[in-house]
Amino acid sequence: MTIKQRDQKHIWHPLTQHKLHPETMAIVKAKDCILFDEDGNQYIDGIASWYSSMYGHCNPFITNRVYKQMQTLDHVVFAGFTHEPAVKLSEELIKILPENQEKIFFGDNGSTSIEIGIKMALQYHFNTGEKRNTLIAFEDGFHGDTFGAMSVSGLSVYNGPFEDFFLDVKRIPTPNGNNQSLVLETLKAIVKNNKVAGFVYEPLVQGAAAMKMHDAEGLNTILKFCKANKIITVADEVMTGFGKTGRHFASDFMETKPDVICMSKALTAGLMPMSITSCTQAIYDAFYSDDIGKGLFHCHTYSANPLACAAAIAGLELLQSDTIQQNIKRITEKHRVFGAYIETHSKVKSIRQKGIIFALDLNVEMERYGDLRYKLFNFFMENGVFLRPLGETIYIQAPYTITEAQLDKIYQVIEEVLEIV
Ligand SMILES: *Cc1c(COP(=O)(O)O)cnc(C)c1O
Repeated sequence: MTIKQRDQKHIWHPLTQHKLHPETMAIVKAKDCILFDEDGNQYIDGIASWYSSMYGHCNPFITNRVYKQMQTLDHVVFAGFTHEPAVKLSEELIKILPENQEKIFFGDNGSTSIEIGIKMALQYHFNTGEKRNTLIAFEDGFHGDTFGAMSVSGLSVYNGPFEDFFLDVKRIPTPNGNNQSLVLETLKAIVKNNKVAGFVYEPLVQGAAAMKMHDAEGLNTILKFCKANKIITVADEVMTGFGKTGRHFASDFMETKPDVICMSKALTAGLMPMSITSCTQAIYDAFYSDDIGKGLFHCHTYSANPLACAAAIAGLELLQSDTIQQNIKRITEKHRVFGAYIETHSKVKSIRQKGIIFALDLNVEMERYGDLRYKLFNFFMENGVFLRPLGETIYIQAPYTITEAQLDKIYQVIEEVLEIV
């Protein structure tokens, strides 16, 4: 039996309605930007396996470091112990994070990095003697699948059944450059009528909302208002972090820096699951006390796993190398040229781009979870390219190591798919 046949017996896949979509594909190998399936087919990984494998799959620079770490210290409890990889990673990360970030708290995935950020915001006020219980979030955001993260996400098929159990969250529109007074008025009304503890947001690009992009100046105004009202700002950089936008972090585009930053995905270069929630000294200080109850009592068994830290340190070195920085510029420019070319196609409604994140909306009427995405997905896979459209949006977020020829191939299949929609 093939892997994909055996799969069906015991495996329950994420984000899958198995009755409608029983078939899955078995990947047996990955090398740089190519995935290999069990039937011997190859696919260009056009989304870096959810924007994680940004330095290419099985990159020997990273795998060798992890292998070396594996032979020295594989895992140890991080409550009460520390180790070189965690300390080294904290030092290297603080160097590139926005200058107000001082402390590093480890978690194990993107959703839990948000939970930790939410807890920091709520408990900051609790500890400073002012109970605040409301959070603000953007409409259409996505922050993960645990309860706090679902609460601050926009409503969708992902979180709909759990709505009755959410935290108290009020939503504001994303700033689009033309709605600044609406955004600010909505925000002010919420703050006036509620005790707002924090604002959780994806800066500049909302991933699961189909790479929806918003205005940096508008976001900066919101952040400034939050700061003036002691609302803890929690930037979800799980997707945007580590070079995607053309800067190390999307928050680098705003003058007002967030109090808390959540990171995962590319943090560990696609090798190991881990996350980090960083914060300012002021947040940390609100938990620093003679009172044990004011501590942040949150932990995951694999917090700061040494192997994940080793992968992250290697990833940070690559990110800052001339080669990767030049690749980011090269890919950004190539997307720009392709965008200008494809934008005029009759089947293209609009295009948008931030750094190496490129998205194209199709000029078709289609509901978000309908069959179009499967039709597009199947066409791309049959043509050797892995892209995972969101509704009528096709996006590219390829590894920084992608070649010119591979990028051209991705553009070509996108152009071809326009003929079948
Ligand atoms: C993927 C993602 C998450 C959730 O991360 P997981 O590791 O899948 O739990 C949260 N926020 C954003 C912006 C993401 O892209």
